[in-house]
Amino acid sequence: MGRAFVYVILGGGVAAGYAAHEFVKKDVPHGELCIISDEPVAPYERPALSKGFLLPEAPARLPSFHCCVGSNEERLTPKWYKEHGIELILGTRVKSADVKRKTLLTTAGETISYKTLIVATGARPLKLEEFGVTISDADNVCYLRNLADAQRLVNVMESSTGGNAIVIGGGYIGMECAASLVINKVNVTMVFPEAHCMGRLFTPKIASYYEEFYKSKGVKFVKGTVLTSFDSNSEGKVTAVNLRDGTKLPADMVVVGIGIRPNTSLFEGQLTLEKGGIKVNGLMQSSNASVYAVGDVAAFPVKVFGDIRRLEHVDAARKAASHAVTAIMNPDKSIDFDYLPFFYSRVFTLSWQFYGDNIGEAIHFGDYSGTTFGAYWISKGRIVGSFLEGGTKDEYEALSKMTRLKPEVDDLAELERQGLDFATTVSVKLMPSSPPTEAGSSDVVVEKPLYAWHATAGVIFAASIAAFAYWYGRRRRRL
Ligand SMILES: Cc1cc2nc3c(=O)[nH]c(=O)nc-3n(C[C@H](O)[C@H](O)[C@H](O)COP(=O)(O)OP(=O)(O)OC[C@H]3O[C@@H](n4cnc5c(N)ncnc54)[C@H](O)[C@@H]3O)c2cc1C
Repeated sequence: MGRAFVYVILGGGVAAGYAAHEFVKKDVPHGELCIISDEPVAPYERPALSKGFLLPEAPARLPSFHCCVGSNEERLTPKWYKEHGIELILGTRVKSADVKRKTLLTTAGETISYKTLIVATGARPLKLEEFGVTISDADNVCYLRNLADAQRLVNVMESSTGGNAIVIGGGYIGMECAASLVINKVNVTMVFPEAHCMGRLFTPKIASYYEEFYKSKGVKFVKGTVLTSFDSNSEGKVTAVNLRDGTKLPADMVVVGIGIRPNTSLFEGQLTLEKGGIKVNGLMQSSNASVYAVGDVAAFPVKVFGDIRRLEHVDAARKAASHAVTAIMNPDKSIDFDYLPFFYSRVFTLSWQFYGDNIGEAIHFGDYSGTTFGAYWISKGRIVGSFLEGGTKDEYEALSKMTRLKPEVDDLAELERQGLDFATTVSVKLMPSSPPTEAGSSDVVVEKPLYAWHATAGVIFAASIAAFAYWYGRRRRRL
């Protein structure tokens, strides 16, 4: 038994939805494209699971958050796929792949062949068992990756009102779930080994703001230690969490967010892997020319940093997916993916965005006792990353444009004084309107950090020159 398609997308998450949307924009003929997913529903915006889905009132439910509503594009319901002649093969797991024969084998025993494959298998949550903790599959221990996990979390949360939740992990899953639990009237203690929350991204100063905010909502923090075991009752439910420092925390439920692993296993030994993911080039093409990889599973060249990175962020998945489809459908028009890493989170009434890289020295700016503040990261004399809490759409856009240029700064005190004004002034003068770019990459495209920027000396003048240089550079590249 078998079916054959010209294009197959393996995985039915964020990247799959955005890839399908791009295929339709590029007039893929009916019957040529299929999506295979082990989830029972059409691709949806995964970030909704730790945000709107967990709200106690008017929670987000499908079909409201199918792709591509996260980018204010049309909502791709199952009807949409049908109307565009795209086969959705749902609730179907692929158990092996043969890239030489160009075939996939499902657990139902069907062989599906392709001419071009897009691997969009995402990632799976790390389990406590992998760290030697047993009974972590108890009914009241929750992970959060897919719709089934989210529904289970809601059920456990509803039965724990007024009780205690222990959140293991201080990353964005832990932070977003902790906020949702509080909103659902569950008492929360967060446990993580780092010195502060969001250890991979936040500076101690930024983290301190969020931790104080969480404390004001009743959240307790136990830092610098890890969970070693659970206590359970006769029904197999976890009743307490034991920590390495000897503390025992009573628990009605546990939420675990300790990281993810990309789903590469089908392709190990067949495709080149790097940074834990499938290595691709600037067209998102793997070491096998018929196989592309996008989203959390792909390690791709990030031009602005000059190295290969695997990102676990929704914006990267969306844009890489569109980019791969352009490369497949319009190979003569495709250029290398030029992506500025971007990540965001929303908790309680707070909302932040981060662009670029958080290496080097951090310069904080704004009012850390108020609602709008941020930071720039300076490496080798250039701004390489930026963070902003409580910004407006225009301010975030300014930050994105400025960070992409990696401006040079030689007076950090002046940069700190200018704060957000530095980014807004530069970006307004730089580009009155952002020209559209090829291959679905909606960020501003600048090949290299072309200009030396000095926070102290004439930002506006420098911006005008840069605008001209940028415009001139693009004209030359188009010719
Ligand atoms: C709860 C949550 C909240 C998040 N919030 C944010 C946020 O606020 N900001 C942000 O930037 N990012 C956020 N992310 C990260 C973002 O959602 C991911 O980066 C994005 O979903 C990656 O898209 P993807 O298509 O690569 O993977 P996924 O969306 O995970 O899709 C992978 C798909 O492949 C399927 N699959 C895997 N293996 C197989 C197989 N063998 N056979 C069939 N199907 C298979 C999976 O079931 C799934 O449907 C969040 C993630 C989660 C889980």
